[in-house]
This record gives sequence, structure tokens and C-alpha cells, in this order.
Amino acid sequence: QKPRAMNHKNTGPRETGYHQEYRAERRSETFAKHVFNEDRMLQYLTREAFASVKGAIFSGSKIDRKIADQVAEAMKAWAIAAGATHYTHWFQPLTGATAEKHDAFFDLLPDGRAIEKFGGGQLVQQEPDASSFPSGGIRNTFEARGYTAWDPTSPAFIYGSTLCIPTIFVSYTGEALDNKAPLLRALHAVDEAATGVARYFDKNVSKVNATLGWEQEYFLIDAELARSRPDIILAGRTLIGQAAAKGQQLDDHYFGVIPDRAFRFMRDLEAECMVLGIPVKTRHNEVAPNQYELAPVFEEANLAVDHNLLLMDVMDKVAVRHGLRVLFHEKPFAGINGSGKHNNWSLSTDTGTNLLSPGSTPMKNLQFLTFFVNTIKAVDRYEELLRASIASASNDHRLGANEAPPAIMSIFVGKQLTDVLDELEGVSKGKLSPEEKTELKLNVVGKIPEILLDNTDRNRTSPFAFTGNKFEMRGVGAKTNCAKPMTVLNTIVAHQLREFKSEVDKLITKKKLKKDEAIFNVLREYIKSSKRIRFDGDGYSEQWQKEAERRKLSNNRNTPEALQVLTAPESLELFRTMGVFTEKEVRARKEVELETYILQTQIEGRVLSELVYNKVIPATVAYQNSLLRNIAGLKDVYGAAHKTMAEAQLGILEHLAEHLQAIRKKTDAMNEARKRANGMKDIEKKARAYCESVLPYFDEIRYHADRLERMVSDTEWPLAKYRDLLFIK
Ligand code: ADP
Ligand code: MG
Repeated sequence: QKPRAMNHKNTGPRETGYHQEYRAERRSETFAKHVFNEDRMLQYLTREAFASVKGAIFSGSKIDRKIADQVAEAMKAWAIAAGATHYTHWFQPLTGATAEKHDAFFDLLPDGRAIEKFGGGQLVQQEPDASSFPSGGIRNTFEARGYTAWDPTSPAFIYGSTLCIPTIFVSYTGEALDNKAPLLRALHAVDEAATGVARYFDKNVSKVNATLGWEQEYFLIDAELARSRPDIILAGRTLIGQAAAKGQQLDDHYFGVIPDRAFRFMRDLEAECMVLGIPVKTRHNEVAPNQYELAPVFEEANLAVDHNLLLMDVMDKVAVRHGLRVLFHEKPFAGINGSGKHNNWSLSTDTGTNLLSPGSTPMKNLQFLTFFVNTIKAVDRYEELLRASIASASNDHRLGANEAPPAIMSIFVGKQLTDVLDELEGVSKGKLSPEEKTELKLNVVGKIPEILLDNTDRNRTSPFAFTGNKFEMRGVGAKTNCAKPMTVLNTIVAHQLREFKSEVDKLITKKKLKKDEAIFNVLREYIKSSKRIRFDGDGYSEQWQKEAERRKLSNNRNTPEALQVLTAPESLELFRTMGVFTEKEVRARKEVELETYILQTQIEGRVLSELVYNKVIPATVAYQNSLLRNIAGLKDVYGAAHKTMAEAQLGILEHLAEHLQAIRKKTDAMNEARKRANGMKDIEKKARAYCESVLPYFDEIRYHADRLERMVSDTEWPLAKYRDLLFIK
């Protein structure tokens, strides 16, 4: 049975459902229609409850039970009026995705009457069975219980007919079992540390938010065609597949006209995002055929993380309605670009200042330089942790596989800012002369804004680039929960800013330096000591690999290697002092990551073996048979003369036989290697065994499978081919 693309004329969205009714309205009117945001709260809450929730959002203060009851009552009234029938705590277990368990608002009174029920208790806390989620051993040592707790900083929303309440997920002993709890801790740490430093420049600052604007890349393929491919269904990527004659070599997809079918999907998706309060803004074709990107307006990091996770879920669902399938895997197709999720990050004060944006006065620019240099210093010191935060089996196919960006962390700042940093390196030790101060003010710090405006050079090979008023972290995988890199980045910057403040304060009190003198003095040392992380050249080049090694930068090309640093004493100390992870939590996370790596590679190995034995070999044999029947027929009719006539067929038969033998041998060897790895008790050894002795077979097997695909007739080949998968109209 040949896979066939669905006739897309019949597979457009059905013009029903709540997502459709707003289509004709203006975006600004439909935006956040299904979100219990500040406007709704003002409308539905008492003044007391409103103030209490605002306080919780601003300063993390507790909401007492009576207020929680009021909030729950208001949420219920609003949600039911908007058509919701159920509610759920919506959380982020360590599986990387989101989880939800729906309960109806419905309840029975003792006398049997039905009522709609949702109280403060249900809003604040639930107890999903923690034993079915990965916990990295935390739940084994204690009872198998965990609970979800309301996160008032991310507003509740209605998705379909369910009221979703964003929550953290923790064990009864307080350990985080999710990705959100540590993120909130890291954001709290960076708020505290950055506020302290920002107040050197503006006493009115009382809160600093980390901001995140992610750019989600993805592939769209026909769902029916995908169905013929067990590798896409079970592993999210193609494990075999001959490259299409045409790939991305003509550069004709990037920013090209969006194909009609993809466009209808996007339009439907965006309408739904608007209602859910996800501020999507940009859509365009990416480099590879069938690859696209979607980016929102940036938001406070916790909210942006939630919105990205929600978006991925909405995308899957909208795609189904369009007969499409979304691939978030970092490398779904060999030979063409994979997908990432750039994380644009900055810090912003409650007074409305972007701390990474150069300003109009020298003082503003000193503020900019302070946060800029501290970020560089933090990344330099903990580059390996940042690398670990984006490690996964699927992202290994991008990082360190000669695809954007490399596994080596480095920072691009551009020529002009490099010059500024070079100047600052020359600042005198201790007190500054009036002349030096004037010089700095006029010619170094004062020059920054006009410089940046024409600083247009962009280095696409850099994993961590300064882009004018924010840093862009580019190694994040398309599938990755941004909470992971955001937790690490904000933790290391918080740590750095805390250290910076104590050094500056010391110079002010002990050495009697003026505030700006003290700041210049500390920055000078940071600029000197973090030089090795700055690199503006070609990140893909062979020289950079060598140069980076000379600079003692890490170059961890695979996940088992990259994760090692998590439990290094310096990392444990960092996470502990910043209050982000306890040692037990770090060890648990490392174990979960390793386990996930093993399981994903194991699944791929099994699928590959099944593909070879159930698809590739039978198709090849069937084709051999048809050739053999042909040769026998020629012999029947032409006798001895058939030999010359069947030369091509005989030649093909020989080639087929060679590749058949080879592919069987390699597949069996891979399965043997898997068995050996499976027998290992130590999880680190096991992960390394999968990486070093199982994974290398994948490419070898693929080589033969792709050769066979090239030769075997289309009528026999049971899998949709790249050329079918990659060019939807
Ligand atoms: P481009 O990089 O394509 O030129 P922009 O600079 O406008 O586009 O922004 C790219 C992404 O960076 C967008 O998703 C945007 O929301 C995000 N972004 C812009 N400013 C900030 C900021 N201060 N903090 C976090 N993200 C930001
Ligand atoms: Mg970008």
C-alpha cells in the first residue's frame, strides 16, 4: 500500500470551534480573550483579592486560604461563563513536555443535587501521582507523592473547554520534580542580584525581570505521508532516507513565499494563539524546504516559557486539523538544516529600562556596560553549564555536527563593542584622574549608542551573540523546554552580579573610591579575565576548534559528555548558594537526562532495526524477485542470448545483494551492541555505551539503506521519500 498525500483541498480547518469565531476580529481585540489576566482579575476579584494576587506576582508574597477561595470562585465564574467545563493543574514534569489531569467543575451534594464546584483548595494544590513521572530517584527515597502548587505569576487560561492553572510540581519533601520550580528560583535570584546592581544607577528600581523572546523553528509535513514512516512516528525524525535531488542548495525557501497549505495552518494557529494570549508576531520560511519559524513579542521569562510550551501543544493540535504533522525534532532530515529555538534574553527593570540597551547618557551607558560585561563574565565562567543545559540526544545532531551553532560556547559582541572593551581594559587602577574620567565619558562610554545603531554585522555561527539590546542564545534545541537554559543563564548571571556588587561595595568602603570609579575598576578586571570567551570569527571553522582548545573552552560534542559538569563541585556550589537546586535535585536531574538519552537512543535503535528487517529487506527482495522473473522470462524467449540482454538486471542484482548482506550484518551488530549496553548497571557507562558503540552504527546502516532506496523500484519502496515529504504546496 503506497502512502499518498491527502488531497489538501479537503483537509482545511473545519469552520467550527471557538478558535474560528474571532478570525474576522482585530488581533488587539481577540488577544488574551481566554486568559485570566489583570483586566479579568480587576473585573472579577474583590479589591482585597486583587491586591493579594498582585503582591504575590510582584514580590512572591503568600496568598492566604480565604483569598484563594475568593480567587477560585472568581476564576470559576469567569471560566464557566466562557464555556469551560473542567479545570486542570498544568505543569512541566521532567519529561520535557507539559502534563495535565482534568477534573470537572461538577460535584454532588450529600443529598444528590449537582453543583459546580471549584474552591481555593483545588486552585492552590493538587496531588497527581508523582510515581509515573521521572524523578531521578527522588521519589524512591521518599514516599511516591508529589503535589502541584499554583504559580500566580503565570495567569490561568482556558484551553478548549478546560481551565488550565499553571503550577509547579514538587515532592512532599520539597524537591522540585519539574522544570518550572527551579526556573522561578533562578528568576528570583536574578531579580534580587540585578536589582541590587541596577540601584547603583537608579534608586527607583525595585524589581528586575528577565525577559525571553524565543524563535521556534519547525518542519511541517503531510500527516498521511508521515504515517508510512515508523521512524517519524516513533522517533520524530527520519532514520533512513535518500536525500531528495533538490534540497536547500538553491536557497529558494528562506523568506520565500509561504506555501498555501502552510499559510492556512499558520493563520489558524495564530488565531488560536491570540485568544490564548501568546503574542505571536513573526512567521517566515526557514532555510530548509518545509521548514518554518514563528516568533512572538518577548515577555517576562516565566511567562514566555509557559507560552512556548503551550504553543508547541497548540501547533500539534492545529496541524491535525490541517492534515499536517509538525516536527520539532532538531534534525528530522539528513542533509538539510535542522531546527533550533533561539533564546533572546535580557533584563528589564520595573521602571521600564532594558538593562542591556545602551542609553542616551554616559550614566545609562555605564549601566549597560555593567550588565553587558557581567553577562560575559558569567558565561565565561560557566560556559560548560550553559552547554549542559541544552544537551539532548536530538540536539546532539546539531551541536558539534557542523550545524549552527557549534558545541563550543563563545560570545559574539561585534567589532565596535570589542573596541569599547579594549579601551576599558586600559582604565587606571584605583582612583581616576579628572582627565581620564572626561575621556571615558566622552570617547568611550559616551560613544556607545551611535555605534550600536550601525553595528549590523551578525554572526550566525556564534552560539551566544549580542544583538544590540539583548543576547541571543542560539544552541537551544527546537524541542527543548526553554526553562532549562533559562534556569542556568539566569542563575549564573545572578551569581555574577552578586559577586560584582560585593566587589564594588568593597572598593567604595575600603578604598574610598567613587561609585563609578569602583565600577570601572571591577569591570576592567572582568574584561581581562573573560577574554577567552569572546570570539567573532567563524564558529564552524577547523581553526576555531583548535583555538578553543588552546583557550581551554569546553567542546562537549555529545550529551553524556556535556552532562558531566552538572555534578562538578563548582556547579553544585553555584546552584546551592543561589538557592536554585539542592545537590540532590541536581543529581536527580542528571540521572533523568541520562536516562532520557538512553531511552531515546534505544527507541531509535529498535525502530531502525525494524525498518531494516520489515521494510528495507522485504522491499529489496521483492524487487530482486521481479528482476529474477524478468531474467527467467528473457531466457525462456531468447535462450543463451538473454545473458547480454540481462546485463543491467544482473548487475543490479549483484549490487542489491552486496548492500543486503552489509545492512543485515550492521543491523545485527547494532542490536548486539544495544544488548551489551542494556546489560550495564551504571547509568553513566550505559549512556556512554549507547553514544560510543550503538550510535555509530546508525550512519553505517543508513548508508546501505539509502543505497538500496536509490536502486529499488518506487513501486516496491514502502516508505514515503524525502522528495515527497519535503515539498508541500
Ligand atoms: P531579529 O533578531 O530577527 O532582527 P528582533 O531583534 O526584533 O528580530 O527580535 C528577535 C527576537 O528577540 C524576537 O522574538 C523578540 O521578541 C526578541 N527580543 C527583542 N527584544 C528583546 C528583549 N529585550 N528581551 C528578550 N527578547 C527580546
Ligand atoms: Mg534570531
